[in-house]
Amino acid sequence: MNKKIFDYLRKDIKNIGNYEIVGAEGLAKLDAMENPYEFLANISFEKFSDKNLVSLNRYPDSYCNNTKDIIKKSLNLNCNIDLAFGNGSDELIQMICLAFLKEGNKVLAPEPSFSMYERITKIVGLEFISVPLAKDFNLNIEDIKKVIKRSDPAIVFLAYPNNPTGNVWDEESVIEIIKSSNSLVVIDEAYFPFSKKTLVNLIDEYENIIILRTFSKIGLAGIRFGYAIGNEELISIINKMRLPFNINSMSQNVINVVLKNLEKFNFRVEEIIQARKELFSKMLSIKGIETYESYANFILFRILDKDAGEVFNSLCELGVLVKDVSGEPGLKNCLRVTVGNESENSIFLSSLESILLR
Ligand code: PMP
Repeated sequence: MNKKIFDYLRKDIKNIGNYEIVGAEGLAKLDAMENPYEFLANISFEKFSDKNLVSLNRYPDSYCNNTKDIIKKSLNLNCNIDLAFGNGSDELIQMICLAFLKEGNKVLAPEPSFSMYERITKIVGLEFISVPLAKDFNLNIEDIKKVIKRSDPAIVFLAYPNNPTGNVWDEESVIEIIKSSNSLVVIDEAYFPFSKKTLVNLIDEYENIIILRTFSKIGLAGIRFGYAIGNEELISIINKMRLPFNINSMSQNVINVVLKNLEKFNFRVEEIIQARKELFSKMLSIKGIETYESYANFILFRILDKDAGEVFNSLCELGVLVKDVSGEPGLKNCLRVTVGNESENSIFLSSLESILLR
């Protein structure tokens, strides 16, 4: 490429690696917390083909008003609470970071947590700071408060439940963080359908909170649709950052049909919760691993007497793709498995057992 172009480029770009996605062809795909069930197959496609529903020659509804009405009603929110929509909750994280892009501003998250907090922070050009979790993966609340006092972050991200550890923070700790900082606290409830635990009520009490939700984990990762819940002032800031037509008409229509057929995916969510419980108890009885309790649709485990990278490769050879998180701080020799369908979970368990016995 013309060398001159590089002179204009941001200097920090070379420090940002590619977001690696491992090919999963022919493998039981248990690496990305997707839902194993294609529930849309259960919904008649006639509902999508009505040309009055989707006028593709027109730009989509910028504010997703139909979708917004349905979700607001289902959440029973106070009238001063609003929603903003993102092309996946990843995009909402990006919009929030962009809004706080100011010289010297910092973004804080516990470590380990969802890798996109750090990645997006760096992409938009903010500084990322992290506080290690305690050994049992709980928040080191005193350390967090000290860092907040010292560094005065503009944004704090808390995944609830946390990815990749699967635990939920206790509510008092989250409230302490909210109270101890002047910053925006983003509570990312991507795994809410599986945890059934929400801090959405805190929005009425504290004015510096945004809650994030996504449709990705309940079977719609391909639609790319997430939403932020917050007071009108905060939501209007996100909307200023948002590209006007970020949610395309097809996605809006699919989401609206889905919202009217919620029972068709709720039973799948319950199946996954049940499968997680079964998988967890079976993993507890496998020798050579330590398994951590999860409130999400994945389970973190530590390999005790073998190398996690080698176990990961052996699992791939036996047809199972999990996520190797052993390189992340605090997760030495750990792997993360997504709860799949019955046959995927059973091939994972038998493969893991046979590898550990070698
Ligand atoms: N937040 C957390 C904690 C996640 O684990 C993920 C997905 N891995 C996301 C957000 C992103 O979800 P989406 O597909 O809506 O961008």
